[in-house]
Amino acid sequence: MYGLSAGDLEIQDRARTLADELIPFEVEAELNGGDLPKDVVAGHKARAIELGLYATNMPKELGGHGCTSLQQVLVQEQVGRVTNALAWVVATPPSWLPSVATPYQLEKFVLPTVRGEREECYAITEEGAGSDVDGIVATARRDADEYVLNGEKWHVTSYNTADYAFFQGKLVGGAHDGEHAMFMVDLPSPGVTVLRTPAYMHTISHHHPIVRFTDVRVPATHLVGAEGDGMTFAYEWFRFERMMVAARCLGGAQRLVEEMTAFAKERAVQGKPIATIGAIQGMLADSLTELFAARALVYETARGVDAGIDVKVQHAQCSMAKLYASEMAGRVADRAVQVFGGRGYMRENVAERFFRELRVERIWEGTSEVQRSIIADQMTKRGPRALA
Ligand SMILES: Cc1cc2nc3c(=O)[nH]c(=O)nc-3n(C[C@H](O)[C@H](O)[C@H](O)COP(=O)(O)OP(=O)(O)OC[C@H]3O[C@@H](n4cnc5c(N)ncnc54)[C@H](O)[C@@H]3O)c2cc1C
Repeated sequence: MYGLSAGDLEIQDRARTLADELIPFEVEAELNGGDLPKDVVAGHKARAIELGLYATNMPKELGGHGCTSLQQVLVQEQVGRVTNALAWVVATPPSWLPSVATPYQLEKFVLPTVRGEREECYAITEEGAGSDVDGIVATARRDADEYVLNGEKWHVTSYNTADYAFFQGKLVGGAHDGEHAMFMVDLPSPGVTVLRTPAYMHTISHHHPIVRFTDVRVPATHLVGAEGDGMTFAYEWFRFERMMVAARCLGGAQRLVEEMTAFAKERAVQGKPIATIGAIQGMLADSLTELFAARALVYETARGVDAGIDVKVQHAQCSMAKLYASEMAGRVADRAVQVFGGRGYMRENVAERFFRELRVERIWEGTSEVQRSIIADQMTKRGPRALA
């Protein structure tokens, strides 16, 4: 099905193996604030590396696996079958970085990240600037061979596991005054402090603290690309991340469809399985139908990226994939809770966890509303036929 090659099926199988090994740890993580013992997590990461699933997005010459976009989708789809972010051990380092990294940055940041020795986090969003990144007020001022960074960043995912952060600020003074720039900041660094670690809807070991950068000094060699670049060189990354969000949503929906079908076959009311009740059948059927449609869309989008189709078309299609797959997964999770009845409201139930966890897929990496505006913008510029 889906015209997958032998190589595609083989990597999909490896990813499925890992996901199946991680699923039994979900309830323990859920009931323990998202945490598992450190040695268990280290074992999971080692297993991801052993199975060749780490850094699938990085070029082979840098130690990655150089997988096609479709293969990466297949891997992330399996990652998405696991709750509590346990499968985030299948890391995808910043693939946009090598093309702009200096030899120093390659040695210090990129290569150790590909080897799994370093981990990154992103400090871009602020209290007043999320969808509108241009609204950030964090600053970067050049001082001799250094930059001095100031700002307060929100939702810094994985700050507690990362050992360096990408920090985006606006330049103060110089030829590029007011323009964006991005820096790599080693963690910990003097002046970087956690203001607060809010609780979020999901239960995962990766936190999203509010982080304050006060007069943080970084060497000028930690500037990513050039002054004025900011994340502008990272559009490829947005496309990648949106497609991977979509892929993980397919995996979440696949797991839910399987679990709710099994439950509906087994759960009997008045002597009959609930799977024979029309209303339940409707929820099962709609879920699988929408999953099938989403999967076809996401795989086709990945194939287009691999075929090198027009980059603006790729951009719009990745937005469509994220929009549809994340909204689809949300609907499936809602139905799954309903099919499970009271059990679906229990934290030990997979539907309850996915119901909370999938909600953010419509928000991060660009909200559904932002994806719609990207798609509509390209529709009016290129015409619907160019996109679908
Ligand atoms: C769990 C979690 C983890 C995150 N991790 C990170 C991270 O690691 N690093 C990081 O930098 N950020 C991170 N974020 C931030 C995330 O990217 C933003 O929350 C997201 O982009 C939305 O921005 P906002 O929260 O400021 O909402 P806003 O931009 O204020 O949006 C509020 C509402 O207005 C709508 N809206 C805004 N602009 C438009 C528009 N132009 N057209 C139509 N509707 C619009 C939105 O869709 C939304 O419904 C994370 C967020 C969450 C929840």
